[in-house]
Amino acid sequence: MKSVVIEKPNEISVLEREVPEPGAGQLMVQVMASGICGTDLHIYRGEYMGKYPVIPGHEFYGIVTAVGDGVKRFQVGDRVAVEPNIACDNCVNCLNNRQNFCLNWQAIGVTLPGGMEEYVIVPERAAFNIGELPFEVGAFMEPLSCVVHGIQRAHIGLADYVAIFGAGPIGNLMIQMARIQGAAHITVLEINPGRADLASELGADRVVASFDQLQPDTYDIVIDATGAIPVMNRTIDYVRKGGTVLLFGVPPSGRNLEVEGFKIFQKGLTVMSSFTSVRNSFQAVELLKSGQVRVDSLISHHLPLDEMPHALELIESRDPVVKKVIVQPNG
Ligand SMILES: [Zn+2]
Ligand SMILES: [Zn+2]
Repeated sequence: MKSVVIEKPNEISVLEREVPEPGAGQLMVQVMASGICGTDLHIYRGEYMGKYPVIPGHEFYGIVTAVGDGVKRFQVGDRVAVEPNIACDNCVNCLNNRQNFCLNWQAIGVTLPGGMEEYVIVPERAAFNIGELPFEVGAFMEPLSCVVHGIQRAHIGLADYVAIFGAGPIGNLMIQMARIQGAAHITVLEINPGRADLASELGADRVVASFDQLQPDTYDIVIDATGAIPVMNRTIDYVRKGGTVLLFGVPPSGRNLEVEGFKIFQKGLTVMSSFTSVRNSFQAVELLKSGQVRVDSLISHHLPLDEMPHALELIESRDPVVKKVIVQPNG
């Protein structure tokens, strides 16, 4: 079978590998749709944790083609989405419901072979049956689970004014989740015109292209969904006194923010981040099944596996037409 391998930072190739076999408690999944996100780009550029070589792909959906001994919930032919973070459930953090900080953390597509190949082995407990959902919709389970976790941490309340910086796929999931949580008004900052239109379509009340068009000290919650340091630096200017800043986008490692500490104090802010998810995959699947969260318009490209290296460049290009890129290892 074909696999995409990131040998080391900035070096990617498509290789032939043996088809793996599922062991006890594991499933073999034929990958039908595998989303690329900023994390893959960070892994490719050597800006994320994890060791090399890596077979990337942590947002995927496929068909169960074999089951190992002892598998209870699945049979061959089931359609599953995969939660990539594998916690041990037996360390001090897991026992305290902080599985995202598991001391023995493994992640499919980061430390274990991921979905950018034709077949992947996954533990049964990482798989979620998503029935008849189209394959590329299922590939959004993982990013949506992270967004659900972030939104819950930020405690968006009824009638809140929310500002979201960045309307990439994550920003657009944020818009929809903020609405579900009861936000009264959602303002989005986005310079890319294609993404700005999409934000309006998915429920943003106002979309602006520059900071000058935003009122300082106004929003109950400001969410950064860009991971761009200069944008993150501005979040504390626009949140109201006593409000919350959620730094959700992944910035490059090794770079500092520059924010005025006194301003955070004087405004009494809660400034937080959100790391992956904690048992939010089930919720993500239900939200996708219910149709409350729409993802079809977030996809701009479907590409074969061979074009994964090209796909990373596409994402990096910040071309206005590029939204979510879905790789289809099995056509
Ligand atoms: Zn991702
Ligand atoms: Zn653990």
